[in-house]
Amino acid sequence: MAENPKPVLRFAPSPTGMLHIGGARTALFNWLYARHTGGTFLLRIEDTDRERSTPEAVEAILGGMAWMGLNWDGDVIFQFARAARHREVAEKLLDEGKAYRCYATAEELTAMREEQKAAGKPMRYDGRWRDRNPGPEQQGKPFVVRLKARQDGETIVHDQVLGHVRFENSQLDDMVLLRSDGTPTYMLAVVVDDFDMGVTHVIRGADHLNNAARQLQLIEAMGAPIPTYGHLPLINGPDGAKLSKRHGALAVEAYRDMGYLPETMRNYLLRLGWSHGDDEIISTAQAIEWFNLESIGKSAARMDYKKLDNLNGHYIRETPDETLVAEVTAFLSRETPPRVLSMTARERVLAAMPSLKERAKTLIELIQGAEFLFTDGPRSLDEAAAKLLVPDARGHLAAALPALEATEWGATDLESAARAFAESNGLKLGQVAQPLRAALTGKASSPPLFEMLALLGREESLVRLRAYKE
Ligand code: GLU
Repeated sequence: MAENPKPVLRFAPSPTGMLHIGGARTALFNWLYARHTGGTFLLRIEDTDRERSTPEAVEAILGGMAWMGLNWDGDVIFQFARAARHREVAEKLLDEGKAYRCYATAEELTAMREEQKAAGKPMRYDGRWRDRNPGPEQQGKPFVVRLKARQDGETIVHDQVLGHVRFENSQLDDMVLLRSDGTPTYMLAVVVDDFDMGVTHVIRGADHLNNAARQLQLIEAMGAPIPTYGHLPLINGPDGAKLSKRHGALAVEAYRDMGYLPETMRNYLLRLGWSHGDDEIISTAQAIEWFNLESIGKSAARMDYKKLDNLNGHYIRETPDETLVAEVTAFLSRETPPRVLSMTARERVLAAMPSLKERAKTLIELIQGAEFLFTDGPRSLDEAAAKLLVPDARGHLAAALPALEATEWGATDLESAARAFAESNGLKLGQVAQPLRAALTGKASSPPLFEMLALLGREESLVRLRAYKE
């Protein structure tokens, strides 16, 4: 028996805006299936809509894919560049009698629809040029090329996700393949490109299910092999309504800017519509091993930001300290104005990372927790820290300073000195440590205080502490 050829998948975004979360999930599923099967993952930019396609959107899509870690095989394919080939296929269908020229004018078609509407009938092209030859009066007149689709029977989309979805052919009119200016329509371009690219599996949003029926008619006319379809249910907002701007971020870039890691997004988007038992934490390597089409869910998935945060916390903790420092540096460089860390700051952040990363769910939280390590000098206090530095507490801080000044500047010695001071003054350690922490970091919580004192060093620590002794 001949071995099944390796699957060929593609992601085919239209460059009319950002790479949004639904598109990113589609790309991810295609990528995972290709990597799982050892197949190919192609990227095709569907830029046939010249009015709405922009180079910025192409950049945003490529950037979004790169950030998500979804590498494609071979060169990016631009659909518009293939228009001549699309036309060639339409002309071949014309020659074979599988397509025809339709000379109906815009006014005629409007009148046709008005009549259908008035009669309470569905509005669709009535096939008036299907079996009619142009006469002398059509000479030089504009025409479109339409597919001569089967009118009886049904077209069935055998969908890996949604099952067998049936369409009465009588409900599908003869679609346009070439517009009157000779440009190919989207339907023609998609089918021809998938065929030429050898695409075996079409995994995309369920909003394309109806298109699949029409595309099948064309595939049949071309005598092309039918790909395996998988239409992914939509993604809803946390309230169950269709995901929209109202629900917050739609573009993957926005998730990057909110401090989510690409690993988190891959895991999170995977679980939006695909499952493996009760597993929530699924690394990319594991996902590549497990991914299949059978376990894609049939019902709409729902965004859950709390889950996203928790996953991100997990992946932050899993990320090596050095990598996190690089992530933090990259994040800061994208801010306006960009922030650049000194060598000293980087070293401090790296040293504190094991405990910083324990308390952050996003890179933003990680940065906020690390900010006291970025620059030298007395800290300004956030609200919670200000509450810790009420006059009494400042008194304790001032009184404890000589004990700290007199000790070796290491975490253990500093802690012993602070404990001894607290004990001999009838204070709890916290009554001394909390004001120290607030003065040192400007915050009410931080990585372990005595380690941070040691990390910042005697001179820098004392500058900060002395600033709050009154
Ligand atoms: N270009 C289409 C879109 O961005 C996708 C077409 C397809 O996957 O077949 O929605």
